[in-house]
Amino acid sequence: MAKSFDVVVIGGGPGGYAAAIKAAHLGMNVACIDMYINKEGKPALGGTCANVGCIPSKALLDSTWKFHEAQQDFAVHGIETTGVSMNVGAMIKRKDDIVRKQTDGVAMLLKANGVTWLQGRGKLLAGKQVEFTAHDGSTETLQAANVILASGSAPIKLPMAPLVDGVVVDNAGALEFQAVPKRLGVIGAGIIGLELGSVWNRLGSQVVVLEAMDTFLPMVDRQVGKELLKSLQKQGLDIRLAARVTGTSVANNEVTIEFTDANGEQKLVVDKLIVAVGRRPFTADLFTTDSGVNLDERGFIFVKDNCATDVPGVYAIGDIVRGPALAHKATEEGVMVAEIIGGHHAAVNYDCIPSVVYTHPEVAWVGKTEEQVKAAGEEYKVGTFAFAANGRAAAANETTGFVKVVADEKTDRVLGVHIVGPQASEIIMQAVIAMEFGASAEDLQMMVFAHPGLSEVFHEACLDVDGKAIHSAKRKRKK
Ligand code: FAD
Ligand code: AMP
Repeated sequence: MAKSFDVVVIGGGPGGYAAAIKAAHLGMNVACIDMYINKEGKPALGGTCANVGCIPSKALLDSTWKFHEAQQDFAVHGIETTGVSMNVGAMIKRKDDIVRKQTDGVAMLLKANGVTWLQGRGKLLAGKQVEFTAHDGSTETLQAANVILASGSAPIKLPMAPLVDGVVVDNAGALEFQAVPKRLGVIGAGIIGLELGSVWNRLGSQVVVLEAMDTFLPMVDRQVGKELLKSLQKQGLDIRLAARVTGTSVANNEVTIEFTDANGEQKLVVDKLIVAVGRRPFTADLFTTDSGVNLDERGFIFVKDNCATDVPGVYAIGDIVRGPALAHKATEEGVMVAEIIGGHHAAVNYDCIPSVVYTHPEVAWVGKTEEQVKAAGEEYKVGTFAFAANGRAAAANETTGFVKVVADEKTDRVLGVHIVGPQASEIIMQAVIAMEFGASAEDLQMMVFAHPGLSEVFHEACLDVDGKAIHSAKRKRKK
């Protein structure tokens, strides 16, 4: 007889494992199937995020920023450093140790919550049955009252830039270079391309980023995008917009990249190439046609607002469904679905999901950009304030960037907050909380912010929405 579960989750990334834990909290009998095998050949939970995404990329970004500071920024504080060098092997090992701790931690949490971790591949069949194929090839059929599909995403491959082991790599390979490439190419100036390009640029690679579009980070507020582009260029990243890669070839451990730009056909030779042209939903062999699950026109699993698929009792969450490909979005969808299965009312507020680019300076935003509000014909007002005018930023020698607040002209409600600058990834959460509670710019103007603090820049930007910023010489009200 088939083993039966209240909930079978397929995928153990931040969406799937969070759903499994929440369902267990609610007293359900849960199995989580995950097929990931790490570079040591062992099954590991945590998905893309913990193994080859959010966590390892941030580990390398933190290590390399410390190196950059030691080399270039410490002197301003009077700290004299000579002969600072980077042991790349030690940096990669530290990253691996962090990844292992995170993935082991997820395994511990599943165990502690009584979730059955099934190591192998899951496939949804008709009638909410799930075929489980273990890594040794043995199969069994599980019966599920509810199924949560959480199989995540995979890097998009460019046919003209096929991966070549250790030389032309995707995001996973870019976390594994054992030495600093002298010349590094990156295809795609998306968040992943910019973060990974920054890592190696800080260690001395000459990095060229080729981006097909002529706009830099089009989803980001224009002023913020311009400021980030300027900062990254100052750090030495050679970012070429409107540069479309048309072919690559590898010979003698060098990659020749062919691309077209405004001047016609171009060639660039590099030692390593990172292909970072986006991610696609990973739905291969995930469900049979008679399971009843459908895809949308872009290849994502079709779901309604509450992540329900076309099959009652079957849900899909995270990178395999519409919306931003972000770990926290996947997690919140997982928790929501588990609550719905448990008979509770739950929803994700898609208008309040923060996004972050972990470059230096960081970029973070939530809600609508000024361009979006303008295009929608809404009446709005804007406040901005620069980190350069903030005492804490000056003390930290981190004066690049600003906070921008977009508010509704009539109701004063905050519609969006956009930050480029130090600790943007943390400051943005104040905006998320404010927007979740429907705050107006005035609500935030009236709050007391600790001094001296980087968050005062957010406060002053809220004041500037009505031309009231205290530490600003120009008090003219702006649109
Ligand atoms: P995943 O994390 O992709 O997990 C899916 C899991 O399901 C995987 O383990 C996979 O092996 C398994 N699986 C797939 N099919 C099956 C099957 N049939 N049977 C069993 N198992 C299966 N997001 C952020 O929010 N912040 C960041 O800073 C950030 N940085 C990133 C940096 C990089 C380099 C990359 C690549 C991504 C980054 N992301 C970041 C995105 C983030 O990693 C994803 O949005 C997130 O992991 C999606 O979670 P998920 O649970 O939907 O899927
Ligand atoms: P994202 O989807 O945000 O990760 O960004 C990926 C980026 O890669 C997008 O901005 C694409 O425009 C870019 N891109 C895709 N194909 C190519 C190509 N052939 N040459 C250069 N850039 C590309």
